[in-house]
Amino acid sequence: KLIKDIDSTDVQNFKVSFNSSTNVLSEGDEGYEKSIIRWADNAIKKAGIVVQATCLDDIVKTVKFASKNHLDFAVSCGGHSSSGTSSSEGGVVLDMRNLNKVRVDVEKKLIYAQGGALFGDVDNEAWKYGLATVGGVVDHTGIGGLTLGGGFGHLTGRHGLTIDNVVGATIVTADGEVKELSESKNKDLFWAIRGCGANFGVVYEFIYKAHEQKEVFAGVVVYPAEKLDTIIEAINIWLKNRRSENEGMAFVISRSPPENKPTIALLLFSNDPSEQVFRERYSVIYNCGEPIMEQVGCMPYPKLNTLANGFASFGDRKAMFNAHITHLDLSDIREAYNSYIKFTDENPTTSQSYLAFDLYGTEKFCSVPTDSTAFYPRKPFYNVVIVQRWLNEKDDKIVYDWAKKIQNIISNDEEKSLYVNFVDMSDDIGYNENRIKSTWGDNLEKLKELKGKYDPNVFFRKGAIIWP
Ligand code: FAD
Repeated sequence: KLIKDIDSTDVQNFKVSFNSSTNVLSEGDEGYEKSIIRWADNAIKKAGIVVQATCLDDIVKTVKFASKNHLDFAVSCGGHSSSGTSSSEGGVVLDMRNLNKVRVDVEKKLIYAQGGALFGDVDNEAWKYGLATVGGVVDHTGIGGLTLGGGFGHLTGRHGLTIDNVVGATIVTADGEVKELSESKNKDLFWAIRGCGANFGVVYEFIYKAHEQKEVFAGVVVYPAEKLDTIIEAINIWLKNRRSENEGMAFVISRSPPENKPTIALLLFSNDPSEQVFRERYSVIYNCGEPIMEQVGCMPYPKLNTLANGFASFGDRKAMFNAHITHLDLSDIREAYNSYIKFTDENPTTSQSYLAFDLYGTEKFCSVPTDSTAFYPRKPFYNVVIVQRWLNEKDDKIVYDWAKKIQNIISNDEEKSLYVNFVDMSDDIGYNENRIKSTWGDNLEKLKELKGKYDPNVFFRKGAIIWP
């Protein structure tokens, strides 16, 4: 149901039941338009009511109200979902962004972060004590969505996925109950939220393991796309020889305005402050010749997670499609590149689209058994993210069709598994049993059982949904 379908007195009573620090906004209220902004314009929906929670009780009250009235319901944190899973057309949105406090227990090396924080909030607070946990590579990504789906980042090679560093959480389930989760409390839900979280509740707080972290040497080097073959060959040599707990790379094939020249930007990361060590680690890349742009240096760890922000600004229509690759196949990448150039040439309003390849170390996260968290694809693969950015709604279909074509060209993972955080719902995953199976594999049956136990009416039904 939508807000307009229920008794207006009930809605009014609900609105006035919050204390003055909590905004409860409807269309026309000051702050409403800002509250529904998302990373992608196509994910913006006109919510019936937005509750900007400031305490645990606000979450409980909102979940109970929406659940009792069978209302469409969404939770928003960083707002990065390009398919609108954190938005609702006419229903209730629980906006978590005011719940963004982060505190560090230095002695126990634990980070307590409220469920509306961004990874920049976590990085900056932990860094005050020389600590870090595994976060995303763009610092305005929300900890809510990223953590609940798994979480890859620069420190994955050393410390695994974000969920491998979650030691506890407080959540509100569909019945409005508050539950503490850990290895010793509500163990089944603790298992489920690590990899399939958005299906099971609203997370009020995550507790992350913190690790000692030094300054890093990192940065971006850019080569012209004519060097594609040479660069891929060099990356393959680097992949064979690297020490993945200390090295990581992402590369992005994009077009740079104003001339829209195709380039390859490499984000190189060495988990060591020394320039000499960095240059040795990436000598095979530098042997490809002088980059057309180089911006590298020693920096505090939080700055590393701002280096890709330039590719990730808010605005315009966007979609993210994912492919898992097990190795870098030059002919596939060349074919994908040719398709990218042809598509963006023929459709100039899509020219800010790009292909991003995340080459983080895999050993650590593969060492975790597949059934010890809900996250299933614990095998050596790299994420490729096909990010489309375009201007007009009328182009939605051609853009999605093109992304699916690239997905098929690039993916050399025979099981065609997917990373749920990079899957766009325009990819139909929410209602596609095969896709759901390839994402959660042998963990799916247990997830269905738990969904039946904790959310039998499928109150949480945004994104990749588990049906009991
Ligand atoms: P939102 O749109 O706010 O939420 C996404 C989903 O999570 C929704 O279904 C929402 O209901 C749910 N949710 C959010 N908060 C909560 C909460 N507190 N409790 C319960 N449910 C909640 N992924 C990586 O692994 N590594 C990366 O480096 C990375 N980089 C990215 C960079 C960009 C620019 C973008 C757009 C995405 C990136 N991602 C990355 C993918 C990212 O993990 C997902 O988009 C994730 O869903 C974003 O979370 P959010 O909180 O920002 O999004």
